[in-house]
Amino acid sequence: VSRFEGITMAPPDPILGVSEAFKADNHELKLNLGVGAYRTEELQPYVLDVVKKADKLLLEKGENREYLPIEGLAAFNKVTAELLFGVDNPVIRQQRVATVQGLSGTGSLRLAAALIERYFPGAKVLISSPTWGNHKNIFNDARVPWSEYRYYDPKTVGLDFEGMIADIKAAPEGSFILLHGCAHNPTGIDPTPEEWRVIADVIQEKNHIPFFDIAYQGFASGSLDTDAASVRMFVARGMEVIAAQSYSKNLGLYAERIGAINVVCSSPEAAARVKSQLKRIARPMYSNPPVHGARIVANIVGDSALFKEWNAEMEMMAGRIKNVRHKLFDSLSSKDKSGKDWSFVLKQIGMFSFTGLNKAQCDNMTNKWHVYMIKDGRISLAGLSLAKCEYLADAIIDSYH
Ligand code: PLP
Repeated sequence: VSRFEGITMAPPDPILGVSEAFKADNHELKLNLGVGAYRTEELQPYVLDVVKKADKLLLEKGENREYLPIEGLAAFNKVTAELLFGVDNPVIRQQRVATVQGLSGTGSLRLAAALIERYFPGAKVLISSPTWGNHKNIFNDARVPWSEYRYYDPKTVGLDFEGMIADIKAAPEGSFILLHGCAHNPTGIDPTPEEWRVIADVIQEKNHIPFFDIAYQGFASGSLDTDAASVRMFVARGMEVIAAQSYSKNLGLYAERIGAINVVCSSPEAAARVKSQLKRIARPMYSNPPVHGARIVANIVGDSALFKEWNAEMEMMAGRIKNVRHKLFDSLSSKDKSGKDWSFVLKQIGMFSFTGLNKAQCDNMTNKWHVYMIKDGRISLAGLSLAKCEYLADAIIDSYH
């Protein structure tokens, strides 16, 4: 009998488990709209041309594979903060940002969660309802208490702004408020600039700490600057801000695990202390981060020609998703005779559409139509092609009614 007898089978991951189920299905019309990864119109994975170029340059340079410092590649940390806050942001000049390279968005969030657990004992993190499924896991594993604030209103298939504000107001003073910088996952619903201002007002009034997760910079609007506007607005108000970044989606570097955690502090001394503690948390967890993705990002952002190319490719990707969104809306509107208003599909932004399908309806999508998706009703439009929109619309209409 095994010494590991007491270990029970863990449930499959609700997001990554969808891909496994998809692979096991042999139906020719099957569609994987689970994981948020960009696909071409042919539904193939996509390596950005600019990444291929940067890779080639790296190979030619033949750099060594020595360990990086615990905080990561200096050139990467510099450009990643500039990309998020803006090159000319005074917080950068004043050295008030503690930036540490992380294992993509997830690892960066996990570092921040560990920092909160260690230095803000008992403090709560407020997360949106709903949110990306892994947020709860991250805070649970870091032993950080969390609760939810209202975000999605099923009646309007839009933002429950009043509920959100009320819940942030009601949270204990000094809570951490987790916000999606842009392209909210899974709903695809972002606050308007005016709503963001009110959110910042309340967070400031209550002495909360805004904690941004920005995994889709550039993917919401196609512009890196526009998508960072929420974060920059909070920083411009002089607030201390935490922000976790990811290059999985906007540079297609999923498997390179490249991202960063940034803590904007009110003094350079505080930033230096925070950075030292983030390093102290990282060291026994994974020692130091991988170099390859960091070099790719540093080379692309640090070179004006490559940077331009990246922006063009990102616009192309964001554009393809927008086209698919329009086609799906057209297909739903023309096929559905029930009079249902499908315009929410057009209003949502980013990679996803939150269909409002419940779990039983999602099961119908998968079991009858071979459409693989998360059971919260989220579909990844990045995994959809124009050619498959009509089929998907049939599946959605059938599942709704
Ligand atoms: N945060 C959100 C909201 C996400 O949707 C994702 C990826 O799906 C991540 C963070 C982190 O992804 P990664 O760890 O690949 O950077």
